[in-house]
Amino acid sequence: MKNIAILGSTGSIGTQTLEVIKGNNNLFRAFLITAHSNAELLISQAIEFMPAYAIICDTGKYLQVKEALAHLPIEVLAGHQAIIDTVTHPEIDVVLTAMVGFAGLEPTIAAIKAGKDIALANKETLVVAGEIVTALAKQHGVNILPVDSEHSAIFQCLTGEENNPVEKLIITASGGPFRGRSLDFLTGVSREEALKHPNWVMGAKITIDSASLMNKGLEVIEAKWLFDVDADQIDVVVHPQSIIHSMVQFRDGSIKAQMGLPDMKLPIQYALTYPNRIQNDFKRFDFTAYPNLTFEKPDLETFRNLGLAYAALKQGGNMPCIINAANEIAVAGFLNNSIGFLAMSDLIEECMQQIAFVSQPTITDYLNTDKETRIFAQNFIQKLPLKAIN
Ligand code: NDP
Ligand code: MG
Repeated sequence: MKNIAILGSTGSIGTQTLEVIKGNNNLFRAFLITAHSNAELLISQAIEFMPAYAIICDTGKYLQVKEALAHLPIEVLAGHQAIIDTVTHPEIDVVLTAMVGFAGLEPTIAAIKAGKDIALANKETLVVAGEIVTALAKQHGVNILPVDSEHSAIFQCLTGEENNPVEKLIITASGGPFRGRSLDFLTGVSREEALKHPNWVMGAKITIDSASLMNKGLEVIEAKWLFDVDADQIDVVVHPQSIIHSMVQFRDGSIKAQMGLPDMKLPIQYALTYPNRIQNDFKRFDFTAYPNLTFEKPDLETFRNLGLAYAALKQGGNMPCIINAANEIAVAGFLNNSIGFLAMSDLIEECMQQIAFVSQPTITDYLNTDKETRIFAQNFIQKLPLKAIN
């Protein structure tokens, strides 16, 4: 029986993780669950799964959760620091990081230092501080098991190939809801249009990232750190059907692909059962239902974020941290209708130029860069000319 800590249990990945646990309650127990502010869902999850701990980040919701669970043997805690402190609990085996954004960094580091294996959905952690996080994982002998479908695919292709150098990683991208669209079209798109992903149902932030191709940019950086390759060994190919989840090309030119229907429960389950595979009742793929699997080049001129992410990865230092923070503010600004779709890339580029570059950042530097970039980006949004706003 593995005790799982699910950071962000109320989100898209978090709820699907609980479904996987529910289907395998002889193998896994939800030991710790956390929410940012969705107290109602956290309470109902706690009642159903009976974790040892339920943590709500929003301290204003503490009493509500505490009172609702008072009759149960569940410890209720509140605040970001409570998550950092509790992920180190000796009974936890795996920490599944499914919270969104930079907030995942400190709990992940605390868990690694306590020797916990990480099932990593929170890609922002590796984008911001991949070098430090992967070095720490090595030092503490912990596995970072990818949950992101592309990285799970690559990880599955690499299993058994430990002695074979990789020539190239080929990350697939659906292209999102605006694939094939022009800059003119993108000027006027609304948040509702951007939130309609063709293949995946996900949280709002990653759905906007998918529409802008920033998600693919973050995934390129995530892949660099997970698989220890150079930026120019990572290609992105648009594959609108999302059936091939990613590929590895080896030095003899052979390419291995991992395929299946788009369903995050599979990579979640694999991260929890690795190196084993267990049976499930997830829907199976039927080749005849998909007679056309197609591939095309990403449009880097229209979707500038992907190029910006490659540039940040090549510059190194705190640059990926800068683009991550700028992007979090940009996406929040787009979601609350403060900036237009294309202004998101303008904002990220401006932050890359204006925020102080640090070539060998420490964790404290990352925390400072994140803070500084957020303040700069908020001010930038307030000063934007009206034409940038839809
Ligand atoms: P959601 O927005 O659906 O869920 C986010 C979860 O994190 C919720 O539990 C939320 O709590 C919590 N949360 C949000 N902000 C904070 C914060 N500042 N501090 C602590 N907790 C917070 O996101 P997803 O599940 O879609 O994505 C989670 C992560 O997984 C992201 O990093 C994303 O990039 C990655 N990912 C997601 C995929 C998907 O299919 N959804 C695929 C691949 C990767 P509350 O509900 O209370 O707001
Ligand atoms: Mg992905």
